[in-house]
Amino acid sequence: MTETTTPTESRQPAERTPAGESMLTATGITHRYGELSVLQSVDVEIPSGAVTAVVGPNGTGKTTLLRILLGQLTPSEGSVAYTGPAVDRPIGYLPQQPSFRPQFTAAETLAFYGALLGREVDTHAALDRVGLADAAARPVDALSGGMRRLLGIAQSLVGEPPVVVFDEPASGLDPSMSTRAFEILSERAAAGTAIVVSSHDLGLVERFADRVLVVHDGVIAARGSPRELMAETETESLWDVYDAVVHGGNQ
Ligand code: ADP
Repeated sequence: MTETTTPTESRQPAERTPAGESMLTATGITHRYGELSVLQSVDVEIPSGAVTAVVGPNGTGKTTLLRILLGQLTPSEGSVAYTGPAVDRPIGYLPQQPSFRPQFTAAETLAFYGALLGREVDTHAALDRVGLADAAARPVDALSGGMRRLLGIAQSLVGEPPVVVFDEPASGLDPSMSTRAFEILSERAAAGTAIVVSSHDLGLVERFADRVLVVHDGVIAARGSPRELMAETETESLWDVYDAVVHGGNQ
């Protein structure tokens, strides 16, 4: 990744509520896909022990930002520094569409993934953590969409990475499965993990996120805890905050 000296944009409010030590520090992130400019001079810190939610309209650059934080994508400008403990697997990732081998059972899937990382996985504990202990022997293609997503969450947590990034873990899930997914993220954050999650479910974000980054027009247009953001915008829900930031309160 290239270093940059691009100054922080004044439109991006300063961070006030880091929950723990910063595990990832992204500085001056600008990203372009050819002619299309997606992110402009974005600074982000991801603290341990907290759920950091990334929200914003479709196509606004959330996945791009997550992939840059993960190190999967090199930004056009700027850099990301991992400052957490030195471990084999610093960052876990749940992509929007996790792919599994359909003939493997849930337990085999996690064992296989652990083997790829050179780890022995306590598959029972790993499945139990996401409420899938009873499905250990079921083939992946016999799991419901929601259960497969929970298996993806378990997979992203294999090896206890200090940072875990979830790209829309609740999309397509029913309300109780969505809530369960966020509860798991919140439990991992309480255990000290730095969680980053993108989501369109503002109700769940308001309930479970410690910090929210609202991405809009290529910058972090607002950031803070749900409570801080509501106080700042004199609104009573994260949806109102989103509406005020993204639509100027005109919709
Ligand atoms: P979000 O996750 O907020 O929906 P993305 O980061 O996926 O947004 O995409 C941001 C913008 O960049 C969109 O306009 C999208 O079409 C474009 N984009 C994403 N990935 C690529 C790519 N690999 N090549 C070209 N354009 C891309």
